[in-house]
Amino acid sequence: MKNIDKIWEIQCLEEKIAGIEHDRGISKVKVEIEQDIKKYNKINEAMQNILDQYKESGESIERKNSEYQLLEKKILESEELLYEGSLKKAKTISTLQFDIDTMKKKLEEIRKMIQRLMNQRKVDKANLMNMKIKTEEIRQEVHLKKKLLAERIKDSEGVLKVIYDQMEALKSQTCKETLEMYNKRKVNIYPVVVKDRDGVCSGCNMQFSIIFSHVVKSQEEDLSFTCENCGRIIFVPAKKEALEEIGV
Ligand SMILES: [Zn+2]
Repeated sequence: MKNIDKIWEIQCLEEKIAGIEHDRGISKVKVEIEQDIKKYNKINEAMQNILDQYKESGESIERKNSEYQLLEKKILESEELLYEGSLKKAKTISTLQFDIDTMKKKLEEIRKMIQRLMNQRKVDKANLMNMKIKTEEIRQEVHLKKKLLAERIKDSEGVLKVIYDQMEALKSQTCKETLEMYNKRKVNIYPVVVKDRDGVCSGCNMQFSIIFSHVVKSQEEDLSFTCENCGRIIFVPAKKEALEEIGV
């Protein structure tokens, strides 16, 4: 892999940034804001569901009310007919009486249903109000945290800028494909690049084969390969560098 040494350095700088952000409380606030926003969205979604339900129950009440009024009118008409005395046959009278009783039962059912819907709407309304207060609280909290975050970032601006500039310089010297590959892998695994530690992957501690160890011992150029176990890129710097490091 081309420019693995540059990728290694980029990753080191990223870790440096993460360390600074951690020490200066930047990452903590960032995580908190993220969590608050998630909470806000969740409540908002629930509110939308309740609002839909509220709208639906409103329409149901309207429908049930007109049904109630129609039925009430029909009962009155039937009762008038029953009491005016024009019906003579006992069977007709008892049938009508039976119909009136049935309609009254139905009327009572509708009344109860309307009552139930109205109670539900009261609960929904109270819940909506509480949720609205909660979302407003979260919104204000996020606002304050963003302000705090901006302040902390501003305080670290100088030190971070130096690192970002170094990183940009490194990126411009790195092969595009390698950089893309690194950014892609970074989403799922971090650190992406690890060094070989005496024939062991320092990412997952898997032991490499003896043949590999032999190749690594005698290589004079930077080496890189993917760990079969964890998918990280193992970076083995050229031995000459190692010699320089110890001053040979
Ligand atoms: Zn590994």
